[in-house]
Amino acid sequence: MGKKFIRALFPGSFDPITNGHLDVINRGIKLFDELIIAVGRSPIKNPLFTPEERVEMIAELVADIPGVSVESFDGLTVKYAAKKKADVILRGLRSLTDIHYELKLAMTNRSVAGIETVFVMTSEQYGFTSSTLIREVATLGGDVSNLIPKTIYNRLQQRLKKS
Ligand code: ADP
Repeated sequence: MGKKFIRALFPGSFDPITNGHLDVINRGIKLFDELIIAVGRSPIKNPLFTPEERVEMIAELVADIPGVSVESFDGLTVKYAAKKKADVILRGLRSLTDIHYELKLAMTNRSVAGIETVFVMTSEQYGFTSSTLIREVATLGGDVSNLIPKTIYNRLQQRLKKS
């Protein structure tokens, strides 16, 4: 029996993308044939970058990873997954708190659209990394350079200088 081609969708806000997200992407692409990073356009609290900027920044970072692409989407994740013919949704896990939230989300997505969610655990060093905290800490002048790629750090510094 031939191996099935598996396409995964990795949805999120990615404002901004962190080393934790990249860790999930690098682990995820080993499990699938194709991985589409899907930047949600739905509004989030205190956004730093527009969805277009987020896509552009991610595209630069994943350009050299075969099988990985990035785009933005509106509306329901499961509808977008169906549109892209994704077989599974990929999500990352850091903690028990993530598990509580992600379990509900995955069950809802499975019950409304029949799509499975596959989880990967982050590396220990990124277990505390979140885009929300990075936005807050960076806005208040904290050093987040260990938690995000250099290119993203530079963009963040530029953005904060302007505001
Ligand atoms: P959302 O707003 O949909 O949670 P995020 O961009 O914050 O979007 O996260 C997208 C996915 O990446 C989620 O599954 C989240 O649990 C996961 N994730 C975020 N940060 C990390 C990290 N440091 N390690 C592993 N997974 C992470």
